[in-house]
Amino acid sequence: MFDKKILVTGGAGFLGSHLCAKLVSGGYDVLCADNFFTGSKRNISSLLDASNFELMRHDVTFPLYVEVDQIYNLACPASPVHYQFDPVQTTKTSVHGAINMLGLAKRVKARILQASTSEVYGDPEIHPQPESYRGRVNTFGPRACYDEGKRCAETLFHDYEQQHDLSIRVMRIFNTYGPHMHPNDGRVVSNFIVQALNNEPITLYGDGSQTRSFCYVDDLIEGMMSFMALETDGVGPVNMGNPEEYSIRELAEKIIALTGSRSTITYKPLPQDDPLQRCPDISKAKSLMDWAPKTPLEEGLQKTISYFEDLLQAR
Ligand code: NAD
Ligand code: UDP
Repeated sequence: MFDKKILVTGGAGFLGSHLCAKLVSGGYDVLCADNFFTGSKRNISSLLDASNFELMRHDVTFPLYVEVDQIYNLACPASPVHYQFDPVQTTKTSVHGAINMLGLAKRVKARILQASTSEVYGDPEIHPQPESYRGRVNTFGPRACYDEGKRCAETLFHDYEQQHDLSIRVMRIFNTYGPHMHPNDGRVVSNFIVQALNNEPITLYGDGSQTRSFCYVDDLIEGMMSFMALETDGVGPVNMGNPEEYSIRELAEKIIALTGSRSTITYKPLPQDDPLQRCPDISKAKSLMDWAPKTPLEEGLQKTISYFEDLLQAR
């Protein structure tokens, strides 16, 4: 018998597939629910034969009736290109998805973790961002479907905790990268690596001075599981990400150097509402769970480059 039954929504996506793999190898009974909008069976193909892994095609905007002990709610496209493709569905996924998964958690008395985001801070005036910062988000912009959907989901999690005494964990994830990102994902690390490996121009939006902080996926998943395992309720949202900050131009230059690519940089307009700076204050995660990322950027990039090299070769 396996220890605990765990539902992972969005389990065939980038982060979800790494989480499922860790949970399966830890002896948990894992149910992965995904509508395959951005996820793929390839990401979880190595788990399909495991007796403690089950895959289910399901859209979280519809109710789900299963019996589980814990829920990780990751379902939602995370790349701006994908979440802006059908913005109404993106908001529905965050809001209806949260209502459905919280309803499920309430019925079966399961602890539930929400994959929230640094996007709740919008284009921030406070730097780095602590959890107490309330953010600067445009309700009328192209990122609003994602940002406001995630903000509303946080409110629902808070209110289910207050009103129904649910055990909730709200994790504000900052830019994370690694193997299993989709080659056409549209996010910066996968875009730059695929372009560099193909010796195609690297598409730099704006002048490349905007900053991000990049966390390697293994570090993030370790943090996510520690947060779920934390036995203290009522701690509020917790930032997780790597506090080392780089400009996007620096990232492009690093990836060109690490791949030995002949690519040159081509400049494209900065998308509307693209945050100019982003860096997590992770002191809360450190004090609650003694968590901090360990993987240096170059090491994580190297592993991600190897993954994409194999993927492109197989094609
Ligand atoms: P991803 O796009 O690779 O994975 C999302 C998964 O959710 C995919 O498998 C997709 O098919 C699935 N999905 C989308 N809509 C769904 C729906 N309505 N019903 C069921 N499944 C659905 O993205 P990711 O990077 O793995 O992100 C996972 C979660 O973490 C998301 O909620 C995202 O907002 C959050 N997050 C990620 C990052 C990051 O840097 N990776 C940063 C902040 C927040
Ligand atoms: N970016 C870029 N070129 C690309 C993709 C992204 O210059 O091909 C920039 C983007 O404008 C943003 C940063 O890289 O400033 C991070 O973008 P991403 O889509 O990865 O995530 P975000 O943090 O904006 O949600």
